[in-house]
Amino acid sequence: MTRLVLKFGGTSMGSPERIAHSAAIAAAEIANGHQVAVVVSAMAGETDRYLGHASALGGGLGEIETDTALAAGEQAAAALMALALKQLGLKARSVLAWQLPIEVEGPPGAARITGIDGEVLESLLAGGVIPVIAGFQGVDAQGRLVTLGRGGTDLSAAAIAAVLGADCDIYTDVDGVFTTDPRIEPKATRLERISHDEMLELAAMGAKVLQTRSVEYAKAKGVAMRVKSSFAPPGHSAGTEVVNESALAERRVVSGIAYARAQARIAIPGIEGSTSGPGAVFAALAAAGVHVDMIVQGRARSGGSNLEFSVEGRDLRAALAALAGYEGLGSAVGLAKVSVVGTGLRGRADVARTLYGVLEREAIEVRMLATSEIKISALVNEDALERAVRALHAAYRLDEA
Ligand code: ASP
Ligand code: MG
Repeated sequence: MTRLVLKFGGTSMGSPERIAHSAAIAAAEIANGHQVAVVVSAMAGETDRYLGHASALGGGLGEIETDTALAAGEQAAAALMALALKQLGLKARSVLAWQLPIEVEGPPGAARITGIDGEVLESLLAGGVIPVIAGFQGVDAQGRLVTLGRGGTDLSAAAIAAVLGADCDIYTDVDGVFTTDPRIEPKATRLERISHDEMLELAAMGAKVLQTRSVEYAKAKGVAMRVKSSFAPPGHSAGTEVVNESALAERRVVSGIAYARAQARIAIPGIEGSTSGPGAVFAALAAAGVHVDMIVQGRARSGGSNLEFSVEGRDLRAALAALAGYEGLGSAVGLAKVSVVGTGLRGRADVARTLYGVLEREAIEVRMLATSEIKISALVNEDALERAVRALHAAYRLDEA
């Protein structure tokens, strides 16, 4: 018998019919002999609906009354799921954050889980009752409801799985994580298993399947996570398993090709000194809340440094404003980033060569390049992005995965 935390997201909770289908998935796991706790998100659209109402009345994200309103979405969802499970002849009970409690710290709309008391859950499970926990919410030191940030139910599920010593199955509307976006490369295949770090790199760049913090949490606590589809018949989604790197038996070099559209490039020529050199540039950008991605620094002929870096297109305006005093400040839009991700890249010498080789053959110009332990990214023209994704997908034989 394995203990399982099953998390159902907004689309899996989208209507009474979808809730009933998700309940049937839980019932099938119980029939398989597993002990099950369920964590739910609000029905699709509810969080946005409440947020819209709160905003119309002056309460945005970060205002504590907004959190109380938003948490209502998960409260209702937990009760509805408990009803659906009862209809299948199972014992179930909705559980809200304050009833455990799930303790949190930090600002409204972006709280952090600091502790979960597992006692109520243990006694429900011991009595054969399925606890249905409202995700996304916690109670702060003042006893008030606070939320964990958008997509936070994944984090609730990972944290509850850690407390219960359970595996964590995240049910969503896709059948796992793919080698790249199937809308760009129809030959993309589902990955059987990936490491937490690969998941973070893929999720941070488009494959928005799991909330980033939940993956970090699962990695830190050693929680096994799976991404599955609630749109398949019960027991029929193979999904993708997110595991510790050491548990990855087969050593694939590359797991996937990720991408991000709408990137911008900024160039500043010939800068130096403590008040206007690279250190000052990045301090100004950080103060403006602009995240800098790739950076290239070269020596200017005049002395000093030529600096080039990339930012999200939506941050370009703020970045240029923060750097308004710099002479020769230039920028370009219409760029995109393509990234090759895989734990097998660690310590390999030929990664940049392969990437350059593939893109050169396709006559795709690399405007900037950055590498990290398990990722290599190139900035290319946005109109060449899809070709770049397909070429790299083929070069790394991901269509045969
Ligand atoms: N309902 C919340 C949101 O829409 C939390 C979640 O879905 O994970 O962000
Ligand atoms: Mg989500």
